[in-house]
Amino acid sequence: MGGVRPAAAVVRPRSTAEVAAVVAACARHARPLVPRGAGTGLSGGANAVDGCVVLSTERMREIVEIDEAERLAVVQPGVVNDDLRAAAAQHGLWYPPDPASSPWSTIGGNVATNAGGLCCVKYGVTRDYVLALEVVTAAGEVVRVGRRTAKGVAGYDLAGLMVGSEGTLGVITEITVRLRPLRTGSPRTVVGFFDTLAAAGDAVSRVTARGLQPSAFELIDRVCLHAVNSWKHTGLPEDAAVLLLAQTDLPEPAAEQEAAAIHAEFEAAGAREAVFSTDATEADALFDARRLAYPALEQRGDAILTEDVCLPRGRWRRCSPVSRRSPHATTC
Ligand SMILES: Cc1cc2nc3c(=O)[nH]c(=O)nc-3n(C[C@H](O)[C@H](O)[C@H](O)COP(=O)(O)OP(=O)(O)OC[C@H]3O[C@@H](n4cnc5c(N)ncnc54)[C@H](O)[C@@H]3O)c2cc1C
Repeated sequence: MGGVRPAAAVVRPRSTAEVAAVVAACARHARPLVPRGAGTGLSGGANAVDGCVVLSTERMREIVEIDEAERLAVVQPGVVNDDLRAAAAQHGLWYPPDPASSPWSTIGGNVATNAGGLCCVKYGVTRDYVLALEVVTAAGEVVRVGRRTAKGVAGYDLAGLMVGSEGTLGVITEITVRLRPLRTGSPRTVVGFFDTLAAAGDAVSRVTARGLQPSAFELIDRVCLHAVNSWKHTGLPEDAAVLLLAQTDLPEPAAEQEAAAIHAEFEAAGAREAVFSTDATEADALFDARRLAYPALEQRGDAILTEDVCLPRGRWRRCSPVSRRSPHATTC
C-alpha cells in the first residue's frame, strides 16, 4: 500500500460546459478524475486517488425546475437532498429518497450510490425516482439519457445504468427526478422490544406476510443504541437486545388499523413489549437514533466495517441472537 496520496487539483465547476472541459482535459493528460458531492458516501468512492483531479459539485446547486403538472424536478448534481425536499414541499410535492445523510448529501451523490433511506421500504430507492440524466462521458462528451414523461418503455434504460455507478461511467451534471404528492397528517409509530434478532426478524416476516406496508421499518440493536445513548444521551431503553420501529403514514382511520395490526404481529413474534408512540417528538427521537447509528459508532473510535447485506425475509429465522455475536457486530 502506498498510503493516501493527495489530489493534484480540486476543481469546482458551475456548469455542464465547465465539467466537460475538465473531463476533456483529464482525458488528454491521462489524469484520473474523481467526482465528489458532499463526501458522505460510506465506501470512500469520493476519496482522492494518486494525483487525481477531484471534481467537486459544490457550486452546482441550482434547482432548475419544479414542474407540478408533470410532478418532476430538474436539479444540478450538487443540490443537497433536504433542500430538494424543502423546495418540492413548497409546490405540494415530495421527493421520497431520504438517506440518513440527507442534510448534507447531494442528489448527484445519491444517484451515483443509488441511496435509499428510511422510507424506501414503501416508496423505493433513488433508482425508482430518476427519470433522466445529463452526463459528461469520460471523453468529455455531453449526453442525455432517460425521459421526462411518466411512461417510458422504449429502448435501453441508460439512466438506470448510470444509477449506482459511483462515478465510474461519467459525471452526472443534471438530474430529472419524479416527485410524489406531499404526504399530509402525522405518522403513527409502533415500537417492539425483542430479546433476540431472530424474533425481531420473525416480526418483519409476519408484518409483510400479512400485507401490511409500513412507511418506515427499521431495526436497531443494542450495540447501536448504546453507542447513540453514550454520544447523545438520548435515554432510550437499552434492556432489549433489539428495537424494531415501524411507522405507518396511511390516512386515518386506516393508519390506526395498520398500527394495531403491526402491534399484534410484534406480540405474536414474541416481543417482550410492543408500544404505540403517539407523541411525534418521541417517535422522531427513536428514528433519530437509527439515523445517528453510523456517526455514533464512529464516535467510539472503533474500526467500523459497513456492509449493505440483503437476505430473503424468511432467512431471519436462522440468524443467531445478537448477544452471541461479536460485541462489535451490528445490524445497521
Ligand atoms: C451518516 C450517514 C448516513 C447514511 N445513511 C444512508 C441511508 O440511510 N441509506 C443509504 O442508502 N445511504 C446512506 N448513506 C450513504 C449515502 O449513500 C451517501 O451519504 C450519499 O448518497 C452520498 O452522497 P454525497 O453527495 O455525499 O456523495 P459522495 O460521497 O461525494 O460521492 C459518492 C459517490 O458518488 C460519486 N459521485 C458524486 N457525485 C457525482 C456526480 N455528480 N456524478 C458522478 N458521480 C458522482 C462519487 O465519485 C462517489 O463514488 C449514509 C451516509 C452517512 C455518512
